[in-house]
Amino acid sequence: FDMFVLAFVERLFRPTYKKDDIVLGKKLGEGSFGAVYRVSLAKKPSSKGGDFVLKKATEYGAVEIWMNERVRRACANSCADFLYGFLENSSKKGAEYWLLWRFEGEATLTDLMQSREFPYNVEALILGEVQDLPKGLDRENRIIQTIMRQLLFALDGLHSTGIVHRDIKPQNIIFSEGSRTFKIIDLGAAADLRVGINYIPKEFLLDPRYAAPEQYIMSTQTPSAPSAPVATALSPVLWQLNLPDRFDIYSVGLIFLQMAFPGLRSDSSLIQFNRQLKRCDYDLVSWRQTVEPRASPELRKGFELLDLDGGIGWELLASMVRFKARQRISAKTALAHPYFDREGLLALSFIQ
Ligand code: ADP
Ligand code: MG
Repeated sequence: FDMFVLAFVERLFRPTYKKDDIVLGKKLGEGSFGAVYRVSLAKKPSSKGGDFVLKKATEYGAVEIWMNERVRRACANSCADFLYGFLENSSKKGAEYWLLWRFEGEATLTDLMQSREFPYNVEALILGEVQDLPKGLDRENRIIQTIMRQLLFALDGLHSTGIVHRDIKPQNIIFSEGSRTFKIIDLGAAADLRVGINYIPKEFLLDPRYAAPEQYIMSTQTPSAPSAPVATALSPVLWQLNLPDRFDIYSVGLIFLQMAFPGLRSDSSLIQFNRQLKRCDYDLVSWRQTVEPRASPELRKGFELLDLDGGIGWELLASMVRFKARQRISAKTALAHPYFDREGLLALSFIQ
């Protein structure tokens, strides 16, 4: 009951916005389900090209608003700071859902990973300074470890709330300049399993580059539910049975892989990796056995990095990229993995 009152009061006193309040700026992206712009608010003109982000979404906008509202109340730090969402009827294209977030920063993890400076460019962003230290595998490993901890922390927040993201990929991870951490964006394909919102996975929304082999987050034994957003209570037992959160873990595992192996950061090399892994029946150890003997220096570098400290990095990676969802580690358990015991990047300067 208290939660309801709090949510209501919070909603009542939060500012609301309408079309005329929003001044469009640069387009940041466009997908099949909407377009994203950098915007400023008419009442609060800003000098830096807009402090907010607007998504004009089609039919899935309603679900995305629901997810963002829920995240705002339950695990605000996991995702980009959401302000408000509404149905805009006056658009030429018919009804659209408009969603507003705070502009978190210029760079997604894709942008940062495509740079030759990666992961040192991220170290500079997180620490707010360029460190004058010798470059090397150990330092790179600390940076990647810090990024992984932030990603798993954000994901644990979502999963503990009962939300599966289903589209975890570097393009959907933004570096928040304000908090100097990575945050998750784009809840357009997310599912809230506790209340059954968007229960049926929209398979066609899933990005095949980062999707776990099961494709569907629920196993086939699960009885089918109505396809429209419904408010049937899904018991946590169902969550336990099917472990839908492990779908996201597989995707994060692939991001870990790409961070460790410079040669797997491009789309084409990731697609090739997926093909190779499938041929190895999704067994990462046998993939390693096939590629390592004739590995390029770039590939060898990834194995070296993951083999540091007795191979705990490799061990963590292997516990995320597994065929069977139930054998994959959870976000919470991963955070307690010995890979994170060693001092991270921030231990070098200040506390996180
Ligand atoms: P899409 O459905 O088009 O993938 P996203 O929500 O992923 O929409 O947003 C598209 C792009 O817009 C992102 O990849 C990112 O570059 C940028 N973006 C989205 N939200 C924010 C935000 N809160 N702050 C800064 N940039 C953002
Ligand atoms: Mg996206």
